[in-house]
Amino acid sequence: MIVADRKPLAEILTLVRHAGRILLVGCQECVTVCLAGGEREVAELSLILRLARAQGRAQVDGPLEVITATVHRQCDDEFLAPLADQVANVDCVVSMSCGVGVQHMAAYFPHTWVVPALNTRFAGATIKQGLWEERCSLCGDCQLYRTGGICPITRCAKSLLNGPCGGSQEGHCEISADIPCAWQQIYDHLRTMGKLELIEEIVCVKDWSRARDGGLRRSVREDVS
Ligand code: SF4
Ligand code: SF4
Repeated sequence: MIVADRKPLAEILTLVRHAGRILLVGCQECVTVCLAGGEREVAELSLILRLARAQGRAQVDGPLEVITATVHRQCDDEFLAPLADQVANVDCVVSMSCGVGVQHMAAYFPHTWVVPALNTRFAGATIKQGLWEERCSLCGDCQLYRTGGICPITRCAKSLLNGPCGGSQEGHCEISADIPCAWQQIYDHLRTMGKLELIEEIVCVKDWSRARDGGLRRSVREDVS
């Protein structure tokens, strides 16, 4: 899932400083799971924003009226269409989705000012209650078949394709004793699986043409488009 967290309150208040009425929109997908932009967080932020403005803590005059909604997915037209009437009656939409949803909302309502309430962080997994960790950098050419399901691009600080580096210390990455060395994890897992020969294969150059640096990426399925 995409993991996000809420922007600092002062920043959100600044983003809506010229608005008297806003539509605050959550999303029921990833940001609900990571407790950043679901129905509960929408209700919480709505209350906080209204109180801050009412108490004059926002350094702008006037109360703030907040209309709330939470849609199934902000990155799909079909779930944005029902918001049209509400969007037409506000000064600004504050999206509590990931950056994809914010952009989709802004494109769908091109005459409405749309701002993000969240910072989109990474593609990750739930490790335990309240803890999410990055797992994929969306490189477009997955290497997990070589590494026992542990991503060296994302989980190694240097994104090494042939590791470990010389800084690996007793299973920890050289950047922090709190961070496991991804290549130690790969080594351990391959050994457990009886596939250590895989770590001896030298990867010369990975195909990065499908990665982010080539600009806007598209995925097309001819059979369904
Ligand atoms: S190799 Fe690429 S696609 Fe596979 S998990 Fe790592 S970043 Fe994601
Ligand atoms: S210590 Fe391990 S995780 Fe850290 S940069 Fe070196 S190989 Fe990567």
